[in-house]
Amino acid sequence: MRYTGLRVIAEGLLGQRGWKPVWRDPAPKAEYDVIIIGGGGHGLSTAFYLAQEHGITNVAVLEKGYIGGGNVGRNTTIVRANYFLPGNSEFYSHSLKLWEGLESTLNYNVMHSQRGLINLFHSDGQRDAFVRRGNAMINQGDDAVLLDRDGVRRHLPYLDFDNTRFPIYGGLFHPRGGTARHDAVAWGYARGADSRGVDLIQNCEVTGIDIANGAVTGVQTTRGAIRAKKVAMVVAGRSGQVAAMAGMRLPIESHVLQAFVTEGLKPIIDHVVSFGMGHFYISQSDKGGLVFGGDIDFYASYASRGNLPMAEHVMEAAMTLMPAIGRARVLRSWGGIMDMTPDGSPIIDKTDTHGLFVDAGWCYGGFKAVPGSGFALAHLIATGRPLETAARFRLDRFRTGVGLLDEEGTGSQHNLH
Ligand SMILES: Cc1cc2nc3c(=O)[nH]c(=O)nc-3n(C[C@H](O)[C@H](O)[C@H](O)COP(=O)(O)OP(=O)(O)OC[C@H]3O[C@@H](n4cnc5c(N)ncnc54)[C@H](O)[C@@H]3O)c2cc1C
Repeated sequence: MRYTGLRVIAEGLLGQRGWKPVWRDPAPKAEYDVIIIGGGGHGLSTAFYLAQEHGITNVAVLEKGYIGGGNVGRNTTIVRANYFLPGNSEFYSHSLKLWEGLESTLNYNVMHSQRGLINLFHSDGQRDAFVRRGNAMINQGDDAVLLDRDGVRRHLPYLDFDNTRFPIYGGLFHPRGGTARHDAVAWGYARGADSRGVDLIQNCEVTGIDIANGAVTGVQTTRGAIRAKKVAMVVAGRSGQVAAMAGMRLPIESHVLQAFVTEGLKPIIDHVVSFGMGHFYISQSDKGGLVFGGDIDFYASYASRGNLPMAEHVMEAAMTLMPAIGRARVLRSWGGIMDMTPDGSPIIDKTDTHGLFVDAGWCYGGFKAVPGSGFALAHLIATGRPLETAARFRLDRFRTGVGLLDEEGTGSQHNLH
């Protein structure tokens, strides 16, 4: 089923009775070529690119809940390619290019909106760091524009420039950064994978990973055993628990990250804006809600709801930066379980068990990575070789010490945030 403007108009006139379910609800088969554990953004995009790029369609995505119920449907939807260090830099650059063609690739409106992202800075030292980052982005082929204080004021006139505790010195503008509708991304990839023959099996929790003679042979699930010679663990915040089923201990801590949305307001914020002196970033959804968040709660947890100290910190930062926000009413807050690595960078790799792959450690940034990660993991599964843009996301960097660091070098180390 292809979506066209004509079809939408025709269905509108005919009472919307011609639409079919967007994906099937198949029973699990006894065996697949590839099993992907986890029907989040990364699992679905991996299945899609396995089918689309490599013609591998005898694939099952096993999801313990429902498609889009994990972090892919809980994030604040920011899409950007503004990393500093080699490794992350080329990976997110590639991912953003995939985003830019995603709606036509999927024939699905994911509401990708390149409204521009502005990182504010509030000191000379921060300015230096952002100049370096901007240069790194430009070297990578991405876009970055250094704004002075007046430049920021032209874009974001509603910020407090005059009475604020942390004066705004300027900002790094990333015009191609922006947002997308998170659950539409999950639905679009699900639909694309399903229509190419992938089985999406919901309400199917993996409870064990079968291994014989050092090679994976299949999985145990709440809907029975399923065999496969290739299995990928793509379960975000549950990575530690699922890897333990294969006898592995991953360098990952799970933490809750909270987000907040206000009642719908008339358009006021037409960029993504991040504060440089506290943990706070904000954008406005197409429905009008101000969507904002901050940092992880500073303790490891599997609860998908957060605690008050971080909520208070985020609200304080919001009020410092744009006091007008105090008049908006917060409608909802929620949390998601984040898979935090010590170096704040992800893992896309084989494991010591033959045929068993891991895609994890996405920290705060896994939504914008959805296309790039699926593309890279599908390549690794299909060819046995890492994709060049993801070649540094190796598991053994935590053993060898030759590693990546994210832009702050913080990852799961709370006291460094
Ligand atoms: C509040 C918040 C804000 C965020 N904001 C941003 C942002 O603005 N930009 C950005 O780039 N990133 C953001 N992120 C991060 C991003 O959402 C995640 O890194 C990313 O979604 C994780 O990958 P995923 O989509 O595959 O995860 P998920 O959607 O969580 O998918 C994992 C799936 O695995 C399933 N699963 C787990 N265990 C099993 C099992 N045993 N058997 C079967 N299935 C299992 C889960 O049910 C889940 O559906 C944010 C996250 C949160 C929580």
